[in-house]
Amino acid sequence: MTNAPQTEFVLDASLDAESARVADALHAADHVLALTGAGLSVESGIPPFRGPGGLWTKYGEPPMDGYQRFLADPAAAWREQLNPTAPWAVGLAETLAAAKPNAGHKALAELERRGACAAVITQNIDDLHRQAGSQTLLEIHGNYHWLRCIGCNQRFAKDDLKVDPERLPPRCPSCSEVVKGDTVQFGEPIPPDVLESCFAQVALADCMLVVGTSTTVYPAADFPQTVLRRGGCVIEVNPEETDFSELATYSLRGPAGAVLTRVLHHLTSAEATR
Ligand code: NAD
Ligand code: ZN
Repeated sequence: MTNAPQTEFVLDASLDAESARVADALHAADHVLALTGAGLSVESGIPPFRGPGGLWTKYGEPPMDGYQRFLADPAAAWREQLNPTAPWAVGLAETLAAAKPNAGHKALAELERRGACAAVITQNIDDLHRQAGSQTLLEIHGNYHWLRCIGCNQRFAKDDLKVDPERLPPRCPSCSEVVKGDTVQFGEPIPPDVLESCFAQVALADCMLVVGTSTTVYPAADFPQTVLRRGGCVIEVNPEETDFSELATYSLRGPAGAVLTRVLHHLTSAEATR
């Protein structure tokens, strides 16, 4: 991949001090959520979709009516999925297969383990939060490694539901409806069960970490706004300024891996002296 992992980033004194304040804010909050996007996985070698080095810039864009095409002919869509020919699909598969969780994913999982983060809401499909150990995980755009029944929303690990290329599309063992990849395609609604869980979590949140997302894709873009409207604290972690930066309570301007590792360090150091 062209995107070099940013492992050498060292926080300057002011960013380090801001990270310590953020650690205090996490400690003081009752219900912390993390909202993550494509930027968190850049240090794992997964570029964002658009922009320089983006997967779609390199390999071309997927069809913008992917879900409608799937519904119109699920068997044909499955044949393409089992033997991808479109360059973007081949590129995505190779990139995701090679990716491993980075320090940012691991720091968020550790925050959860320590009771300092109740749940992660992610727009990413790459499974890296789960691989890092996050337990309460809401994947609003689905998971590349899972399948989902379009009738009852049951999920299946790809290894657990054998797909017979002679009998496509695969059918749900519970309700017999068509099974598709769990990844939410263009034109496809976000699965209602995940969305409801997100709303329930956001309704409880008084603090949100917004990591590696430009917060332009709805409904996720609305979640930090909701926390702010309620008087909560929102912390942005992003090396670049975004449209959301001026609204954020704290903006930690650096790559997620180094910054979240430092926040975790301050949190654990403060806990040790409390
Ligand atoms: P986005 O591309 O709109 O924004 C990415 C943000 O990450 C940018 O603001 C960028 O400045 C920031 N960023 C870059 N490097 C970073 C780093 N090291 N640490 C922290 N932040 C960094 O991404 P989005 O908001 O997630 O929206 C794009 C959509 O594309 C999402 O819906 C998502 O589902 C999808 N997507 C997912 C993956 C994945 O699963 N890893 C990859 C590409 C795109
Ligand atoms: Zn079903």
